[in-house]
Amino acid sequence: MKRALITGVTGQDGSYLAELLLSKGYQVYGMRRRTSTPNYENVIHIKDQINWVSGDLNDLASLIEAVRVSDPDEVYNLAAQSFVAASWPQPIATGQMTAIAVTNMLEAVRIMKPMAKFYQASSSEMFGKVVETPQKESTPFYPRSPYGVAKLYGHWITVNYRESYNMFACSGILFNHESPRRGLEFVTRKVTDGVARIKLGLANELRLGNLDAQRDWGFAGDYVAAMWLMLQQDTPDDYVISTGETHTVQEFVEIAFSSVGLNWRDYVVMDEQFMRPAEVDLLLGDCTKAKEELGWELKVSFEELVKMMVQSDLKRMEAIQSQ
Ligand code: GDP
Repeated sequence: MKRALITGVTGQDGSYLAELLLSKGYQVYGMRRRTSTPNYENVIHIKDQINWVSGDLNDLASLIEAVRVSDPDEVYNLAAQSFVAASWPQPIATGQMTAIAVTNMLEAVRIMKPMAKFYQASSSEMFGKVVETPQKESTPFYPRSPYGVAKLYGHWITVNYRESYNMFACSGILFNHESPRRGLEFVTRKVTDGVARIKLGLANELRLGNLDAQRDWGFAGDYVAAMWLMLQQDTPDDYVISTGETHTVQEFVEIAFSSVGLNWRDYVVMDEQFMRPAEVDLLLGDCTKAKEELGWELKVSFEELVKMMVQSDLKRMEAIQSQ
């Protein structure tokens, strides 16, 4: 039985990845950080199947202990400060959790289990002010936020540990990926949650920032399969994971509202507070390498994703209402 350690297991990606690995018969270890109000919402259905180890990304000793206890064949480093907008008010914390923490994890693995395979969650935000379209593995990076800068450090330190220590370290450059488990502060979930509230008469407007930004949005459940596939190869490498389609925030909004018979123009209000100091205008990924080398496939389309998220938020809100 293979053993995997996942950091960030209670987040969107961690929960889908844990489900996938459990279905493949893995023994799954999930690292959790102590908080006064723990949040297991995404993993509540598999909480008892996960072996919990405590650890904090900024505490190397705890990471060494987590690797010792879990004795993993595969390590998936998904934990981070992952919200771009929060990286301006908290640039240093973002640097510690999203950049330096990657070195902490790599060191823990190098010291305790150097033969373990390592996955680093890199991000399309590293392309930022894009220098070519579509973006692929060879596209130069130009991050546009403290988050993007921190992810770039995490990306390169992973490459460096592969080259310095011959570790099996991979970096997945994942474009935006969403689901009903996406955090409510991200624009997709904010929109689908807002649509559900408006539909049920619990709200009468939705305040948003830049509707012109374009993103390559896929379904998180499809993307965690790519993480796993990267670690099943003979040689470690870096891969772009994306849909190859780009849509504006406005298109997402239009489909979300029209899927419940509403016109977005009647409800969406522009609000300056959701504009960013520097914006990533356009992301569009070319994942040819992942398709060809990993045999990775996309299952859920953009429209299906939007509708899945709206339906899920409607159900959740109806359940709350009927309590
Ligand atoms: P990101 O691509 O990781 O930054 O994912 P987000 O979902 O946070 O943002 C995607 C895009 O939506 C960015 O270009 C934002 O500027 C834009 N956007 C427009 N209005 C909002 C909003 O109210 N909240 C968020 N989070 N993003 C918004």
